[in-house]
Amino acid sequence: MNCLECNKELSYIDHKNSFDTYGVELCKQHKVRMDKLVVLKGTPVEAIQLYYGLKEIGISSMLEWWDGKKSVDLAISRVKLNIEIDTDYNTISHEQAIMDLEEAMHSFKNGFTTIRIPHVVVKYYLKDTVKNIEGIVEGLKVNIKTL
Ligand SMILES: [Zn+2]
Repeated sequence: MNCLECNKELSYIDHKNSFDTYGVELCKQHKVRMDKLVVLKGTPVEAIQLYYGLKEIGISSMLEWWDGKKSVDLAISRVKLNIEIDTDYNTISHEQAIMDLEEAMHSFKNGFTTIRIPHVVVKYYLKDTVKNIEGIVEGLKVNIKTL
């Protein structure tokens, strides 16, 4: 197994450490970089899995992209798509729900599309999630062209 960032061959222990934590293969150096991001921004592990799932099919995204107001879990800036991973999907309060809607409205006004994905969907259907995002990216590309 090789590091998904630098393609360096992984030792058993590096592979185990990275895979146990994130479910992806990263060398020691790149795992530390990810650890820092998680501590600093509270990045959900599902955002990291999605990031590498998209990378695998050639879609580059950015983790913890700063949109001027807040940090977005995952952004595909080429098509102005923001992806938020909902980690407490089952216990969403009405206050949170209206805040989410307001945020979606603001980003929409700025030409961004925001989709919210429950973390369990990434956990259990990573490949399908990646496929659907690929479709959304394709759709957005077409829309951008027609503008
Ligand atoms: Zn690496």
